[in-house]
Amino acid sequence: MDKLYFIPGSQDLYGDECLKQVAKDCEEMANFLNEKLKDIVTVELLPTVVDSAACIANCRKATMDDDCVGVITWMHTFSPAKMWIKGLQDLRKPLLHLHTQANEKLPYDEIDMDFMNLNQAAHGDREYGFILARMGIAHEVVAGYYKNEKVVEKIRDFARVARAIGYSRKLKVACFGNNMREVAVTDGDRVESQIRYGWETNYYGIGDLVDCINASTDAEIDAMMEEYKSKYTMATDNIEAVREQAKYEVGLKKFLKKNEIGAFIDTFQDLHGLKQLPGVAVQDLMTEGIGFGPEGDYKISALSAVLMKMAEGKEGATGFIEDYTYDLTEGEELELASHMLEVPPAFAATKPEIQVHPLGIGGKEDPARLVFDGVTGDGIQVTLVDMGTHFRIICADIELVKQPKPMPKLPVARIMYRHKPNFEIGTAAWCYAGGAHHSVVSTALTRKDIAMFAKLTGTELIVIGDDTKDADVTR
Ligand code: MN
Repeated sequence: MDKLYFIPGSQDLYGDECLKQVAKDCEEMANFLNEKLKDIVTVELLPTVVDSAACIANCRKATMDDDCVGVITWMHTFSPAKMWIKGLQDLRKPLLHLHTQANEKLPYDEIDMDFMNLNQAAHGDREYGFILARMGIAHEVVAGYYKNEKVVEKIRDFARVARAIGYSRKLKVACFGNNMREVAVTDGDRVESQIRYGWETNYYGIGDLVDCINASTDAEIDAMMEEYKSKYTMATDNIEAVREQAKYEVGLKKFLKKNEIGAFIDTFQDLHGLKQLPGVAVQDLMTEGIGFGPEGDYKISALSAVLMKMAEGKEGATGFIEDYTYDLTEGEELELASHMLEVPPAFAATKPEIQVHPLGIGGKEDPARLVFDGVTGDGIQVTLVDMGTHFRIICADIELVKQPKPMPKLPVARIMYRHKPNFEIGTAAWCYAGGAHHSVVSTALTRKDIAMFAKLTGTELIVIGDDTKDADVTR
């Protein structure tokens, strides 16, 4: 189970009585937070930091513990921050500075110097904040009484982001084929993305995957077909084409499992040995949190897996999508986002239909795919591009809307959305930022989640939304 360590700070100048009370209060806080976060992570209290050695021991424990995805720190009393320097240098996990107090209200009638010395986060957390700033350590600050609902919600958000970063650090991405020929934005520095995000992105021969696919038994394919029939509406007579996809999924699953892979790419330009471009197979795999990037887009494959992990347990849909075409009716502009086939069923507002249609690209047999209309609601669109010197995340607020009219001749799943603050500024800002045509759309996550992820991974972030003004895109 993923966990957060709670490391409180104090010192020994106030005497044993004070430290006993600190330990007692911290235990109560840790129990409270554990209760509030237990669906995401467990919270475990470590000994109060009273000197440099205690801090080093705690931080090393957090760094070395594979189950630990992050650390919460809080200064109950004043905790001289030079004691924190060497420990923090050894801490390699996402860090939350919780700026709070054990007590909510000031006991005006009772307060004396002992109380003030014991409960001085206002003082101690500033000393601690200085050393984090001075050392340039990326961290999140949450301020307020720790039992307040808003504060708890922010700590929960941190836990989700920290858990996603932990997942990212362990993520393996399989490339079946390479980046689509001549395409720029989907490519990137795989060495740098492993250094920054942990993604082990490696190439596998499509022939080895085909061997694995061809080893699928009829019984395995039958079972997968039953699963399709229970989840989706079979809206085709071409059952053979659907069985072909079921076979792909059986083989893909085995291959991914054997190699402990959480995300993968394919490309329609390298399907040697496959009769169809994987459609239903990929779409169904995405429902299990497997990341996917088409046309060799390893960055969006990994990012989609990480953001699906971040959104786990939250209401809403999260998945890969491609910017495709617009309705440019003035003042009512909308975007139709989709892909050749591989739209995640998470976006389905209607029960997905399995349909078989020709694909106007790639020269393969007609592939089976899931077709549906998209969900509605406020969301974000997130992409990751390689600027040569660094990675950049672009996050735009969008509003997913119902498609104004049916599209009976469009044989792919789709979502539609409105840009913010409007089409003119929102899409111009995206273009200026170098935003890709592949992205992850989520109605579960918010800009704040992405901002936290960007900050904690040291990634440049550009945000677009109602607060983006014309002046921001006048370059
Ligand atoms: Mn594409």
